[in-house]
Amino acid sequence: MSATEKKGEYSVIYADNAATTPMSEVAINTMVKVMKENFGNPSSLYSIGQKAKEVLEEAREEVAALIGASPKEIYFTSGGSEADNQAIISAANLGIKSGKKHIVSTAFEHHAVLHTLEKLKKEGFEVTLLDVHENGLVAPEEVAAAIREDTCLVTIMYANNEIGTIQPIREIGKICREKKVLFHTDAVQAVGHLHIDVEAENIDMMSASAHKFHGPKGVGFLYVKKGIKLSNIIEGGAQERGKRAGTEDVAGIAAMAAALKDVVGKIDSNTDNLLKKRNRLIEGLKEIPHSALNGDSESRLPSNVNFCFEGIEGESLLLLLDDKGIQASSGSACTSGSLDPSHVLLAIGRVHDVAHGSLRLSISEDLSDQDIEYIIKSVKEVVEYLRGFSPVWRDLVNGKTQFIL
Ligand SMILES: *Cc1c(COP(=O)(O)O)cnc(C)c1O
Repeated sequence: MSATEKKGEYSVIYADNAATTPMSEVAINTMVKVMKENFGNPSSLYSIGQKAKEVLEEAREEVAALIGASPKEIYFTSGGSEADNQAIISAANLGIKSGKKHIVSTAFEHHAVLHTLEKLKKEGFEVTLLDVHENGLVAPEEVAAAIREDTCLVTIMYANNEIGTIQPIREIGKICREKKVLFHTDAVQAVGHLHIDVEAENIDMMSASAHKFHGPKGVGFLYVKKGIKLSNIIEGGAQERGKRAGTEDVAGIAAMAAALKDVVGKIDSNTDNLLKKRNRLIEGLKEIPHSALNGDSESRLPSNVNFCFEGIEGESLLLLLDDKGIQASSGSACTSGSLDPSHVLLAIGRVHDVAHGSLRLSISEDLSDQDIEYIIKSVKEVVEYLRGFSPVWRDLVNGKTQFIL
């Protein structure tokens, strides 16, 4: 499937690649091929099992090479969430052994990280959540200042899933190395989209998820630097060198490796292409009065655009855009039954009312220039339309309340 698909008379524009990506042809073909030809259990000793084992180990070698790791440092998981959980729990267990029960992270991590940290707090860990600056970036010197004698882990995401800001990972990693503290990064939004070298960037543990780089859902991996003792969070058989029980999803893992190889080979050309489109989107949406880009305009993913529009609600914006064939996302977690605005937008200092009117567009390289112009035109129309009957907007215009943006 391509990002732009005919659906009746509408052309559907998919602009929510941060939520998930369509699988690439090469990933689908690999998956089907392995499902047909390698159904064996990689733990079985006869030839059919050993063939599946070979497919698995080839995928491990491929994934490792693409991030500058060695195959023994790759553990396959069911996705980004599991990798985050396992990395953090492992560091916590090592911390318990050495009497260190303090963790440094940020306020705008993915919930897979934040909720795991919440759980650890109940078990007696102390967690420092660093503030994120207005531009959506963490300052390395603040990470350094937060590290204490009893810090067992620093976990900071590589690129934010909502506002796309890319953190100074290399510098943070260097600080952690110097202070001899484990450094984990949730790189789910970055792997396959940015060039990553775990060695050069001083990363000890790194999470990734296949469905964010045109691979299948339900598969991911955790990179763990040699010498760091991983704890298993799923008990059972001795798969993944005893660190992750359960028969491996051989086809999914092979498809993940194929997808990663494919996208990493295209990073440079995709980036050039995406940057032009992203910057045009930003320029176009900035023309909407009382709007603002969320997050730094330079240190951000080439695919990410995130705006706040004063006086409207993100949910209505999304529904009306969907009517126009545009699939996007809003920061507010109304789907989860709460009307709380995004914790990421609050973390960068947006007030509640402003954070409610947010829109995330995460584009892919196969959107055309016409698609981009259509998105700009549609968002302008929908924002104006919604403001037309918004009491919040009326109060702002009449001077009863003050504009913030
Ligand atoms: C999607 C995402 C996850 C979760 O990955 P799954 O494979 O869906 O479990 C974790 N962190 C970030 C930053 C993500 O974008």
